[in-house]
Amino acid sequence: MAKDLTDATMVTQLADRPSLRAEVVGALRAALVAGRMKPGVVYSVPMLAAEFGVSATPVREAMLDLAKEGLVEAVRNRGFRVTEPTDRMLDEITELRALIEVPTVARLARDADPRALEALRPVAQQIIACAREGDLLGYLDADRRFHLRLLALAGNLELVEVVRHLRDRTRLYGLEQLVAQDRLVASAQEHDELLNALVARDAERARAVMARHIGHIRGIWATGSDRATDAHGSPAPSAAAEAREQRSVTAPADG
Ligand SMILES: [Zn+2]
Repeated sequence: MAKDLTDATMVTQLADRPSLRAEVVGALRAALVAGRMKPGVVYSVPMLAAEFGVSATPVREAMLDLAKEGLVEAVRNRGFRVTEPTDRMLDEITELRALIEVPTVARLARDADPRALEALRPVAQQIIACAREGDLLGYLDADRRFHLRLLALAGNLELVEVVRHLRDRTRLYGLEQLVAQDRLVASAQEHDELLNALVARDAERARAVMARHIGHIRGIWATGSDRATDAHGSPAPSAAAEAREQRSVTAPADG
């Protein structure tokens, strides 16, 4: 059932590299965040091992690592089910992030060192470049670095950890669709816009851009969640329904 989880290049790389478990975790995470592995669907270890061209052991270990992060959950004798955040949970996380990040950027607009802000410019450019190239993992990684480093400039390490945790509990669905529609590029450009507002010491504009950016992230989640309901390539509708009801979930990512 799981075709298209990866590509030939990736399989070759996996077979050749030494730190197999880490590589498998990376490849599985990529398949999850890009939506190639669907919420509610149970994937068996032997099937994934065959798909990635490796033995079952590193795949099982990798899935257990991802289960700790809440991206998947073990299903006895069957494999691992891809978990799915509920709309309520995504709304709550969005609200929390707005409560924390919007006033923080307003504060940064008033007192951040302009050189420290400009040091984030290459990261903002990288986010845009990744969005243009459709490099989803690169996008997610750069986006995470940008937001956490920016928040760190406010000097509150606990605040950074809270946001890191909130981000870990969410996941973007339908990223590939967004790449096709160029919507990811539009969202990517907001990072540059935010830096411009901060460097200009324009607290109100920084506040507005950040609020809009977080709103877009929630919109992206909503898009993916629609997609999840008609996930093809799998299993019993009951599994999907069950997955929709549960609260657990999530994982890496953001807009
Ligand atoms: Zn972002």
